[in-house]
Amino acid sequence: MAAPVSRPGHVAVVGAGMPGLATAWFLQERGVRVTVLERERVAAGSSWGNAGWISPALTTPLPEPAVLRYGVRAALNPASPVYIPPRADARLLRFLLGFARHCTERNWRVAMSAYAPVNRRALGAFDALAAGGVDEPVREAEPFLACHVSAEDQKVLLEELRHVEAAGQRVEYEALTGAEARELEPALSEKVGAAVRIHGQRFINPGRYLWALAGAVRTRGGDLREGISVREVRDEGARVAVEAASGEVLGFDAVVLANGAWLNWLARRFGVRAVVQAGRGYSFSVPVEHMPSGPLYFPAQRVACTPLGDRLRIAGMMEFRAPEEPLDPRRIAAIVAAVRPLLRGIALEERTEEWVGSRPCTADGLPLIGPTASPRVFVAGGHGMWGIALGPLTGELLAETVATGRAPAELTPFHPLR
Ligand SMILES: Cc1cc2nc3c(=O)[nH]c(=O)nc-3n(C[C@H](O)[C@H](O)[C@H](O)COP(=O)(O)OP(=O)(O)OC[C@H]3O[C@@H](n4cnc5c(N)ncnc54)[C@H](O)[C@@H]3O)c2cc1C
Repeated sequence: MAAPVSRPGHVAVVGAGMPGLATAWFLQERGVRVTVLERERVAAGSSWGNAGWISPALTTPLPEPAVLRYGVRAALNPASPVYIPPRADARLLRFLLGFARHCTERNWRVAMSAYAPVNRRALGAFDALAAGGVDEPVREAEPFLACHVSAEDQKVLLEELRHVEAAGQRVEYEALTGAEARELEPALSEKVGAAVRIHGQRFINPGRYLWALAGAVRTRGGDLREGISVREVRDEGARVAVEAASGEVLGFDAVVLANGAWLNWLARRFGVRAVVQAGRGYSFSVPVEHMPSGPLYFPAQRVACTPLGDRLRIAGMMEFRAPEEPLDPRRIAAIVAAVRPLLRGIALEERTEEWVGSRPCTADGLPLIGPTASPRVFVAGGHGMWGIALGPLTGELLAETVATGRAPAELTPFHPLR
């Protein structure tokens, strides 16, 4: 890598999702002037319709032996929570092969040991944003319930939580019967036979949170330009040139690429070889008779439910397809079929806000946060399932890297050139 530059005066952030906006905010904390360039609008990508969980206990690497088993089953069953197209192009094949290679217990443990130190600090970064004036509430998830049809299924999650603890991360939880879970959340049906209550987790309304964060960046003097699609980024030595699709060229001292599932298109020329593949997820919201007071998680079905005001958001699926593909109603139908028996008093026919978004997934399950082959170009992306939970801390740690030229130790496993 070339020699680092001294603290840049003016930095562009490409992409107004959680990691991008948080990086802009924490750069401002360090006195750096920021311009955020967003192709569409704030939270136009996967940072909008996600489940909004800030759940360090579950913030674990995606590649694991169980996901591989799902993937194989997916090829046979279209209602499976993981969808892989029957004909994959070369890029997707490269991603899938790399992903499959990482689906071992050993790789999971190595990746988990990279997650544990950042998970321990994830909530603190939200506290820093709140103390600095980001006024959208971050709610305590009380209770946070993971629900299972059988005690057999419950064992799988209990085992996973033990592995998380073995990686050095404290997790507080207790096993419940189905009846105990229903007492806490009457929206659960008789089919729920066991549950795990996890303490110390939080959740947000992600869209509203992102707008509040964007508002704070603007209030502090940041320039947030929506409707600017960045076509190319060039390190020209003294400055970085950012060329928009309109032909407009802007100059900055440094650039942070935070453009989600589209990261490869801008980052490749700076030595970032890891494929960032869209792992598309779906969500919708429905009215319910008994609104749960915290999130509900159905691990076997891979479905997440979050109370957002007077509606329950229901999210799930992992579809490895191009981010531009249209919403596939069969995936919504699969989520509906999965939750129908597990919840009661839920108006699944009154769905609104049907949505698809692209999780930026890497084959090794680790985000890409830090410097590139250019000393003026940085990356904040590839968070897969966990860009909301880890976005603020990503911003804090990357702002330190950009402003001081030194990356904190927690970022070593997430180096974008690995
Ligand atoms: C169903 C579902 C549920 C989820 N639940 C959770 C959860 O509970 N907790 C959690 O932590 N995470 C969750 N996630 C994952 C989380 O949503 C993502 O990890 C996170 O939003 C990624 O943020 P990002 O900014 O990298 O990408 P995005 O949010 O997609 O943002 C990228 C932005 O870059 C812009 N852009 C792209 N190309 C360009 C360009 N050339 N020029 C300018 N702008 C550009 C896009 O328009 C977009 O706004 C979930 C995801 C899904 C799909």
